[in-house]
Amino acid sequence: MATANKAIAIAGAGLVGSLLALYLSKRGYKVSVFERRADMRKNTLQAGRSINLALSTRGLKALEEVGLADAIKKVAIPMHGRMMHDLQGNLTFQPYGKEGQFINSISRSDLNIVLINKAEASGVSFHFNQRITHVDTDKTSITIMSPENHISTHTFDVVVGADGAFSAVRQTMQFSERFNFSQEYIEHGYKELHIPAGIAGAFHLEKKALHIWPRQSFMMIALPNPDGSFTCTLFFPFEGSPSFATLTSDRAIEDFFKTTFPDAAKLMPSLLDDFNRNPASSLVTVKCSPWVRNKTFLIGDAAHAIVPFYGQGMNAGFEDCRILNALLDKHHDHWDIALPEFQKQRKPDADAIAKLALDNFVEMRDLVADADFLLRKKIEAKLHTLYPKKWIPLYSMVTFHDHVRYSEAYTISRLQTKIMNEVMSRPGIQDQWESLDFKAIAESLQREL
Ligand code: FAD
Repeated sequence: MATANKAIAIAGAGLVGSLLALYLSKRGYKVSVFERRADMRKNTLQAGRSINLALSTRGLKALEEVGLADAIKKVAIPMHGRMMHDLQGNLTFQPYGKEGQFINSISRSDLNIVLINKAEASGVSFHFNQRITHVDTDKTSITIMSPENHISTHTFDVVVGADGAFSAVRQTMQFSERFNFSQEYIEHGYKELHIPAGIAGAFHLEKKALHIWPRQSFMMIALPNPDGSFTCTLFFPFEGSPSFATLTSDRAIEDFFKTTFPDAAKLMPSLLDDFNRNPASSLVTVKCSPWVRNKTFLIGDAAHAIVPFYGQGMNAGFEDCRILNALLDKHHDHWDIALPEFQKQRKPDADAIAKLALDNFVEMRDLVADADFLLRKKIEAKLHTLYPKKWIPLYSMVTFHDHVRYSEAYTISRLQTKIMNEVMSRPGIQDQWESLDFKAIAESLQREL
């Protein structure tokens, strides 16, 4: 199908909208992106969104396809594993995968700007300060409101809702027949804090790690920035004790940090300012179906917002773009065939990563400090080293293996847990794990698959 005279509107110039715009303009479409916010290239990032993100294999693969992976890797900081900080400030390092496997800390705004610039250079037109207020899925039209409250309606061949977790495109679709929708907040919110760089941009903590202060019912994490600073995120309950509701005075905040994160607190000179100024933002899982109505569809967080504990929200959104592009290849740009197939393929994967992300919160805030859990990880790492194709740990399947679908990773992980529960129940396992019959364990998983 000829693409040159087909016009596509994308709601949202976030990470996913900008990447999809680039993919589609490379296919020859005339792409217009409408973004509610001002042009981020002229404005500093609004506080409250995560400042940096973990970019991993799925995201990188899509960036590779549009020719951006190398440029992004140059400004990313590799994080080879988790560095756990206990209450006394003692450190334990746990690699994420095998030697040479790592995730990448990348600035959200830098990445978004690179995507917008590249899409613009490829012919995409961006319209900032333009809020989409309504979509007509029968007419494939969008209604836009300008900052002067001027309202206009425009018709396209395809309309995309890449407008995030609180998507206006999805909200319109919610009023249509048999549209399923759920949103579920967790009881924790997050607040961003800051560890500045040392003298001459020195890193106060290990640079090549994602730092975690696991405290059972809550946690703080820190990701490195290229200037030597770290962005910390406190994941903390809104209510109860302790919670955001109890940290209401400067004294309470300082005391809490000094006793709960003593090594980090020493490195946070602007703690009180940051804590009092930055919002406590909520964390939500959004599920909906269908994602497609005629020639209007949802992608990225608009279709499947997840909690951030697997570092996969953006990666999943980028993978959406890659898979949609492959389906357009396969179906020669027949959207009426590609879109239903896109939804059919991606919905189970989006549901799987949503569950895995929720589970991983428990792992990060609590289990990483648990001796049994650490032993499980050691046994799994050895299984993976000995039988790399037969036993791939869940974290690796999700983070380093783009050919394993999220839904497959989920299913395999349940079987692995069943096998590992049995292994861990063996008497004396703590002392004798090295003499396990690893071959038999790896093969038992193959039999279950
Ligand atoms: P968004 O980034 O939300 O972009 C949507 C865009 O649409 C925005 O620019 C918005 O202004 C615009 N918009 C909204 N409404 C309208 C409208 N009505 N009209 C026009 N424009 C509109 N993911 C990872 O992969 N790794 C991580 O490490 C990671 N860490 C995270 C940490 C935190 C604390 C959070 C909250 C999320 C994290 N994520 C991470 C998830 C990631 O941020 C999202 O999955 C990603 O931003 C989704 O991109 P998107 O383009 O779909 O949506």
